[in-house]
Amino acid sequence: MIPDHVVVVGAGQAGGRAIEALRGQGFAGAITLVGAEKHLPYERPSLSKEMLLDLGQERIVWVRPAAWYDEHKVERRLGVAVTAIDRAARTVALADGSSLSYGALILATGTTPRQLPILHHSHPRVLTIRTIEDSQALRPCLVDGAHLVIIGAGFIGLEVAAAARAHGCAVTVLEAAPRAMARGVPERISELYAKLHRERGVDLRFHAGVIAIEGERPIVHLRSGERLQADAVVVGIGVIPNDELASAAGLAVDNGILVDAQGRSNDPAIYAAGDVAHHHNPLLGHSLRLESWQNAQNQAIAVAKTILGQDHVYAEVPWFWSDQYGINMQITGLTDPQATVVERGDLDGYAGVLFELVDGRVVCAVGLNAARDLRVAKQIIGTKLPVDSAALGNPAVKLTDIYKSLKSAS
Ligand code: FAD
Ligand code: NAP
Repeated sequence: MIPDHVVVVGAGQAGGRAIEALRGQGFAGAITLVGAEKHLPYERPSLSKEMLLDLGQERIVWVRPAAWYDEHKVERRLGVAVTAIDRAARTVALADGSSLSYGALILATGTTPRQLPILHHSHPRVLTIRTIEDSQALRPCLVDGAHLVIIGAGFIGLEVAAAARAHGCAVTVLEAAPRAMARGVPERISELYAKLHRERGVDLRFHAGVIAIEGERPIVHLRSGERLQADAVVVGIGVIPNDELASAAGLAVDNGILVDAQGRSNDPAIYAAGDVAHHHNPLLGHSLRLESWQNAQNQAIAVAKTILGQDHVYAEVPWFWSDQYGINMQITGLTDPQATVVERGDLDGYAGVLFELVDGRVVCAVGLNAARDLRVAKQIIGTKLPVDSAALGNPAVKLTDIYKSLKSAS
């Protein structure tokens, strides 16, 4: 039965897109959006890219302009968190003491930056980058000659490093692991990006242990005994899912809220989407939690359709991107350390595609300035069929032809 009132918890990208899809699919019932941040839903990728590169203006990407929510009769409760879910009564409690009843509840609560375990209190010059305010706080630090110490060589760390170098900052990146972006990209790509950052003047260090940060103008103490005087420190060491609300309400939780391919939790009235959703992907054949723009948008759309009785299965090949020093990296599929690697084009010149194959099937592709090829690579992964690896590595053979031959064979 289609509910009369949908409450969306979390005014991020997934929450915004779920509402857009509900109205887009003709849902005429009540919608209330509850968000802990004071803002309407916005997309976060610009926070570590355009917002830091273009200091002349604020490049905030809103999911929808404010007027859209009025026109589409979306009640907003912003700047107030949901503190509890009463599943039996089908109500949520808000931090301001009020409560809301729901027919369907969408949990789109996202993630929170992991904090450095050695930092026991907040420091005005030790920043994480998750919100508009975080990005705004970093912008004034990006001045010629300032020293930025970045902890973590993941996506945030390296995008911030690239932006800081563009403004003439001295940049040191401290990564605990032996390579950059280790969770997201194959080793060869990590190596290429380490080289790129070093060539652009970043002091990039692996196996680095930070043991303390002290002082008003922060001094970063390394396990090696070295001390680094910084003007600001950016911590980008991953995120943790905001699943406490769900867990306290007795929903099944394991590194995120457990949902099926339609975004349904173990309570038929409660759904989850976006970074917080540990969802089943039938195409990949397993469950996973993704932290990506594509997932936040399309999984939220699937949840909205499911609420409206369309039983929409979310089963896409994952896709991410990162922009550093004007080079566009796109990643599709999931990297696998056991995979065989095939290269196409000029990866050393940051223009080509790296494919990873397991049992002859492409499971991951990373494109450097190769957006068009990556679109086809995503389709090839989706076929789950064995590929001629020699053809894949031969730029004279069009990827579209490889895809077409796979399609006709299936
Ligand atoms: P979020 O955007 O985190 O939104 C969740 C919202 O829920 C937050 O506003 C939070 O305050 C709110 N909330 C939490 N708990 C409660 C509660 N109890 N009550 C009310 N509200 C609550 N992905 C890419 O694919 N490519 C990129 O280039 C890229 N760049 C990124 C750059 C940055 C700096 C960051 C931080 C992320 C980037 N991502 C990128 C990842 C992408 O932005 C996220 O995957 C996406 O934002 C997830 O959307 P979400 O709605 O699930 O969560
Ligand atoms: P991330 O990509 O997971 O990278 C965090 C990095 O920090 C990892 O390499 C991690 O190593 C390392 N690390 C962990 N603990 C450390 C420590 N104590 N000292 C030094 N290094 C440490 O996470 P992120 O860069 O913080 O990004 C946060 C979120 O924003 C993620 O959801 C990410 O997907 C998203 N984001 C995405 C993009 C994009 O897709 N282009 C851009 C920006 C942000 P281990 O892996 O060994 O723990």
